[in-house]
Amino acid sequence: MGTVTEPRTSTPMNPPTRRIGVVGGGQLARMLIGPAIELDLDLTVLATSPDESAARVAGSTRIGRHDDDAAVRALAEAVDVITFDHEHVPGPILRGVLGTGAAAVRPGPDALAHAQDKLHMRERLTALDHPCPRWWRLTGPDDLEAALAEMGGRLVVKTPRGGYDGHGVRIVTDAAQVSDWFAGGELLAEELVDFRRELSAQVARRPGGETVAYPVVESRQRDGVCYEVIAPAPGLDASRQQQIQDLARRIADDLDVVGMLAVELFETADGRVLVNELAMRPHNTGHWSMDGAVTSQFEQHLRAVADLPLGETTPTAPVVVMVNLLGGHAQDLHAGAAAALAVDPELKLHLYGKSVRPGRKLGHVTLCGDNAASLLERAHRAETLIIDGPDAATADVACT
Ligand code: ADP
Repeated sequence: MGTVTEPRTSTPMNPPTRRIGVVGGGQLARMLIGPAIELDLDLTVLATSPDESAARVAGSTRIGRHDDDAAVRALAEAVDVITFDHEHVPGPILRGVLGTGAAAVRPGPDALAHAQDKLHMRERLTALDHPCPRWWRLTGPDDLEAALAEMGGRLVVKTPRGGYDGHGVRIVTDAAQVSDWFAGGELLAEELVDFRRELSAQVARRPGGETVAYPVVESRQRDGVCYEVIAPAPGLDASRQQQIQDLARRIADDLDVVGMLAVELFETADGRVLVNELAMRPHNTGHWSMDGAVTSQFEQHLRAVADLPLGETTPTAPVVVMVNLLGGHAQDLHAGAAAALAVDPELKLHLYGKSVRPGRKLGHVTLCGDNAASLLERAHRAETLIIDGPDAATADVACT
C-alpha cells in the first residue's frame, strides 16, 4: 500500500500573478517577451503604435499612450500586475490604478518617482545618506550663478524629468546656456564629477523584500549613450564588488523598489563611488546577462514583479562584454548581421526590429570569454559589419 500524503494546508499561497502588463513598447518590453514565454506568463504590451519594437512581436498588444489615463487603466483591467519599459508614466495615473484595485503596480508609483525626477532622487538619497555628487536645486538663473561661483565656474545642469541618453544634460559655464530650460521649471545642478569610469550595479527585489544582486559592471558612453559594458567591472576586488552591491540593495530596500533596479555610478580617481541615477526596469547595462548570466535581467524582472523566487545572478564566463548597435550607414542590418554571425559563431546578436536613425539603439551584441580586450575587439568587428554594412566594412579593409 502506498503512503497517503496529507494535503499541505499550512500557508495559503498568494494567487499566481500570471498576467503581466508592460507600459511602453520599446526594446526592453520586447526582450521581456522571450522569458515570459518560458515562464508561461501572459504578457500584454501597451505601445503607442503597432510598429514599436515590442508591438511587432508581442502576442498581445494594446495601442495607447503611457500618459493616457484611460489606456493605462484599461491595461490594468486586463492584467494582474503592471510594470514598465520606461519610467515616464505619470504618478497620478498609477495611483489611480492602485485605487481601483484592478492590478498591482510594480515598481509602485512612490518608488518610481525617484527614477522619474532627478531632483526628488537627489533629495531622497541625500536624506538617506547615500553618496551623491554635490548638487543644487535651481529655481532660476541667480541660483545657478551662485552655484557656479562656488564651484569654479563649471557645473552639470540637468532637466529633472524626461531626460534620456544624455538629452537633458549640459555642461554649463554661464547661466545663459540653460535659459531655455528655466522656462520649464526647476533644474538640477551637479558638480562636474572627475570620474575614472562609470559603473552600474543592478539588483532585483521581490514584493516581500528578497533581493539578488548582479556583478557590478563597467559601462562606457559615447556622446552620452551607453556603448560598451564589461561584466564584471575590471579591477574591482571582491570586497569592493560587495560594498557596491550592498549600496544598491540598500537603495532598493529604502525606496521599496520591486523589479530590477539599476544604480548608475561614478567611480572617482580616489576610489569613491557616487550615485548618478536610478532606473527601475531592465537596463542597457544589464543586457550582458541575457547571454552571460544564469538568469537574465529580463527573466529576473518578470520573476520579481510576478513575485516568483528570484534566480541565480552568477556569470557563466569570467568576462562578458556587450556592445550596443547604434544607427549608422546601413539602412538594413540583416546583411551585415549575417556576415557578422558567419565571422564569429560565438557572437550573440540581438536586433530590436527598429527603423534605422543615426545614433538610435537598434540592437546589441554580446560575447563571453576570458579577455575583455579581445572580446571587445571581436564585438566591434561585428558592430562595424552590422552598422556600416558588409560592403562598407570590406571597402574599409581594402583601403587600409
Ligand atoms: P540621462 O538620464 O540622459 O542618461 P545622466 O544623468 O545619466 O543622463 O547623464 C548622462 C551622462 O552624462 C552620464 O552617463 C555621464 O557620462 C555624464 N554626467 C552626468 N552627470 C554628470 C556629473 N555630475 N559629472 C560628470 N559627468 C556627468
